[in-house]
Amino acid sequence: MAQFQAYYSDGQSAQERSVDVRVVDGHLVFNCEQQQFCHDVKSCILSPKIGTTPQFIQLPCGGLLTSSEHSVLKQAFNKTPFVDSVSDRLEKHWRFALLSVIFSLFIVVNFVKYGIPYFADQAATLVSSQILDDASHASLQLLKDDLLTDSEITLERQQQIAELFYQLPAVEAHSNSYRLHFYKGNELKANAFALPSGDIVLTDELVTNMPSNMHILAILAHEVGHVEQKHGLRNFFRQAGLFIVFSVLLGDIGDISGSLTGLPMALLQLDFSREFEYEADQYSVEVLQARDLSPKLLIESFQRLEEIHLHDEGTHEQTDSKSAHSANALEIFMTHPLTENRIKNIERLAAESQP
Ligand SMILES: [Zn+2]
Repeated sequence: MAQFQAYYSDGQSAQERSVDVRVVDGHLVFNCEQQQFCHDVKSCILSPKIGTTPQFIQLPCGGLLTSSEHSVLKQAFNKTPFVDSVSDRLEKHWRFALLSVIFSLFIVVNFVKYGIPYFADQAATLVSSQILDDASHASLQLLKDDLLTDSEITLERQQQIAELFYQLPAVEAHSNSYRLHFYKGNELKANAFALPSGDIVLTDELVTNMPSNMHILAILAHEVGHVEQKHGLRNFFRQAGLFIVFSVLLGDIGDISGSLTGLPMALLQLDFSREFEYEADQYSVEVLQARDLSPKLLIESFQRLEEIHLHDEGTHEQTDSKSAHSANALEIFMTHPLTENRIKNIERLAAESQP
């Protein structure tokens, strides 16, 4: 004899009572408040089964039974109505499909947000310094062929700036990898940029437009910040994205080396993310403060660069799209303008590290 637990309501009031229902000879039999109920199963209507939610049994007397003992109900009513099985399966599938979609999205979003940068940064550490030097020198050669010409800054001024440069802590520590270059920027205008090898280029236009050598030092420190944190290479790998990630996962470093053929050009074309700019700013602020200089120098330098570039944009039409592209792609301050946020960040960094 089958039996199941249910809640009974008389259909008049909201009151529900727990009852034990027996299935006897095709009848549902139960007692409630000294009253015995006995209904032919055929005269009762069972609601479809939807997942694990309780099912209802509509009784001919107007009452209602609610129970979650699906298997006993199924046995008692001795049927799996077509609509039941379909709705149940659909419901299960629908939930499963939705959960799968949400889960997949979660994985993809997190992988793009954290996974790719993580693996890209790992990949950046795998590249040998020889490959890095070769790629950087090729980048510099591309610029020399196309845009840069010999510097017209006096040797004396170059000497003064170089002295400041070689006193930067990271440069002192790795003196054989860092090199400072002076070139006339031409279309590149007032500009500074760092290559992953430690080659840092200052254009004449930048040198002559800065209010003081200390302003140039602030920019040099920012550029050294990019080199120290391997931003150029990390940037390249982050943009190369999935391809690199799989190469690292599969341990196929040969493919990474193969993908580096585009590196010299990429180093000149990829913008740094805001995150990398903040890190380079932070490095500059630390250097300035260690020398008892105000971090305001960094803000003033960027503001000056912005003024120059905005002024030039206003007075000259870009003539050659190729040179305009190259010019815009470098570490200049038009692609990463000195936003309110960035100024605030520099000021916050300055305040935090104040002794
Ligand atoms: Zn930068």
